[in-house]
Amino acid sequence: MIVLDILEKIYLTGSEVLPKEPLSRHTSIAVGGPAKALIIPNGIKSLLITLKLLEASDESYRIMGMGTNLLVSDRGLNDFVVKMERLGGYEVTGEILIAESGISLKRLCEIALERGLSGLEELYGIPGSAGGAVYMNAGAYGKEIKDVLEWVELFNGEEMERLSPGDLNLGYRSSDVGRRVITKVALRLKRDDPERVEKRMREFLRKRLEKQPVFDRSAGSLFKRPKPNFYIGSTLEALGLKGYKVGGMKISEKHAGFLVNEGDGSFQDAMKLVENVRKIILKEFGENLEMEVVVWK
Ligand SMILES: Cc1cc2nc3c(=O)[nH]c(=O)nc-3n(C[C@H](O)[C@H](O)[C@H](O)COP(=O)(O)OP(=O)(O)OC[C@H]3O[C@@H](n4cnc5c(N)ncnc54)[C@H](O)[C@@H]3O)c2cc1C
Repeated sequence: MIVLDILEKIYLTGSEVLPKEPLSRHTSIAVGGPAKALIIPNGIKSLLITLKLLEASDESYRIMGMGTNLLVSDRGLNDFVVKMERLGGYEVTGEILIAESGISLKRLCEIALERGLSGLEELYGIPGSAGGAVYMNAGAYGKEIKDVLEWVELFNGEEMERLSPGDLNLGYRSSDVGRRVITKVALRLKRDDPERVEKRMREFLRKRLEKQPVFDRSAGSLFKRPKPNFYIGSTLEALGLKGYKVGGMKISEKHAGFLVNEGDGSFQDAMKLVENVRKIILKEFGENLEMEVVVWK
């Protein structure tokens, strides 16, 4: 099938199709060249037909949630990118919240509050989608999404499967989701007084706003902690690296664990900065830093 045929078929499923769409428009750090095409399915049905069409073709594809943990090459990608943002349905049964994977984590927290359900308060303020949160096992203030995960529904390239968190090996900002596509997540929450839930949400959000460059262009924490008590932010700060710049990319002045784009920062700037910081940490502490931000090139 030639590319135009595939795109036409995908378009007919109800997906939006944006050929050569710059991914800088879709990543929170505002970096990334064009994808072969950006495809935005309008629901689970159009997503599944789209994925099956792509699987049956020779074309490669990647999945984007809300692009808040991604650093994409300025050269762009020879792949299709399927963005999940319109998969936002949900239902609540008792203490179980089931949501499509494109829903934002923020919305999930708000739904939990509306229903008087506790369990997501620490995560309030983490940007991104439910699917991205599971893929990354997102977390904050001692809580990770895996702590409340009941099951995950995925498309494995051929069919849908429903897995329990134990099957996905969810660890510190990692999972075994791999090439599979998360379509739905189910969270097990606990009934609680909405006023208490709201108070906790606000407290965690306040801490986040005080400490993190939430309103700058970033992709979240740049590196993973190499060991539990090795904090990247305070280590880089102690080394005088707050504000350290390569081109238009710099280590945030507010929190040294974050890389921020000053406006004209490029992928090359970011990767050079990463390389330099890794060299310094290796020399000073003998630790090999692994990036937390996912690189697409
Ligand atoms: C200001 C700021 C603060 C942040 N704070 C935190 C924090 O406190 N804790 C934390 O853990 N993270 C934090 N992050 C990082 C980020 O928000 C999370 O990792 C988030 O869960 C990523 O979700 P996303 O939808 O944006 O994923 P994306 O960035 O779109 O994708 C990330 C990875 O997940 C995969 N993926 C996404 N959706 C799916 C799906 N449906 N199926 C299969 N694979 C999928 C992608 O292919 C990619 O590999 C922060 C980011 C920013 C910008």
